[in-house]
Amino acid sequence: MDIAELRDKILKQDRRALARAITLVESGRADHRQQAAELLESLRGSGSQALRIGLSGTPGVGKSTFIEAFGMMLTDQGLRVAVLAVDPSSARSGGSILGDKTRMEQLSRNPNAFIRPSPSQTHLGGVARRSREAVALCEAAGFDVVLIETVGVGQSETVVAEMSDLFLLLLAPAGGDELQGVKRGIMEMADIILVNKADGDLKATAMRTCADYSGALRLLRKRPQDPEGFPKAMTVSAVEQQGLETAWSEMTALTDWRRENGHWQARRAGQARFWFHEEVRQGLLARLHEGSAKEALAALDQKVAEGAVTPSAAADQVLRLLQVSAA
Ligand code: GDP
Repeated sequence: MDIAELRDKILKQDRRALARAITLVESGRADHRQQAAELLESLRGSGSQALRIGLSGTPGVGKSTFIEAFGMMLTDQGLRVAVLAVDPSSARSGGSILGDKTRMEQLSRNPNAFIRPSPSQTHLGGVARRSREAVALCEAAGFDVVLIETVGVGQSETVVAEMSDLFLLLLAPAGGDELQGVKRGIMEMADIILVNKADGDLKATAMRTCADYSGALRLLRKRPQDPEGFPKAMTVSAVEQQGLETAWSEMTALTDWRRENGHWQARRAGQARFWFHEEVRQGLLARLHEGSAKEALAALDQKVAEGAVTPSAAADQVLRLLQVSAA
C-alpha cells in the first residue's frame, strides 16, 4: 500500500481512503502495524483538531437514537461528524452491540457523516489502540466532531474518557435505585449527564431523575477543569429531538471555557502521556509472552507451584530476561 498516497487522500477528506486507513490500523499483522505507524506519524499535526466527544450508556438507553438525531443536527449546521465505537463486548465474543451502521440509518447515508463500527479484537487494550488511532485519522480527514460511543460496562468508559475532550453519560429516566447503580467513578468522569427519553409518559420521571443527578453532581468534588455549573445534568429526547441544541450549546460553552483556560490542552497532553505509558505497558506484556521470557515463565511456573523458588525470585529471573532482550 502506498502510504504517501493514502495520507494525501485522507488530507483531501476522501472517505474511502479514511475507511481503508482505519482497516489498516485495525489489522494485527506486523507489516500492517508498521504501515499504520508510518501513516499516523506522517499525519501527526496535520488537519484540524476535532472536538472529541465520548458517549456512554447502557444498552437500550438510546445511544444510537441520540447519535442519529444529534449527528443530523450537527451536519445540518454544516459540521462534519464521525462516529466510532469502543465495544468491550466485541473484545470478548467477537460480536458487536455498538456502531452497527443500520442503527443510524439517516446518519450513515449523510455525506457529512462517517460511521465506523467497533473492531473485533481479542482484548480491550487492542480495541482501545485502534479506536484512538481511528480518532486521529478522522481528525486528519477534517471531521469537526468525533463521537466515540461505548456501553456502560467494564472499563470501556475509562478508555473512552482518555481519548475524549468531553465525556457524556446518557441515562434513562428511572427511580432512585438506578442512581445508585451508576458507579461513582463514572459519575466523576461525566462532564454532562443527559437523561434521555424526556417525552410522553416518561417526561416527569426524566425530570425527577435529572434533578436527582444534579444533586448528586453537586456533591462531587469540584474539578479544576470545570467552570461554574459543571458538571451538569439535563434532559433530552432523542426521539422528539428535544434539548439537543441546548446540549450542544452547553458542550461548546464548556469546550470554549476549557480552551481559554488551558484545560483543554492540558487534558490532551495528559492523554498523550497516558497512552504512551499504556503502549509501553502493553509492549512489555507482549514481550512476556514471546521467546525466552515465555519459556522461562512456563518453566518457572511449575517451580513456583512446587515451592522450589519463591514468586519474587522467579519474577526477578523473568524480568532480567526482558531487560536483556530490550537492550
Ligand atoms: P442503545 O442501545 O443505547 O443504542 O439504544 P437505542 O437508540 O437502540 O434505543 C433503545 C430504545 O429506546 C428504542 O426502542 C428507541 O426507540 C427508544 N428510545 C431512544 N431514544 C428515545 C427517546 O428519546 N424517547 C423515547 N420515548 N424512546 C427512546
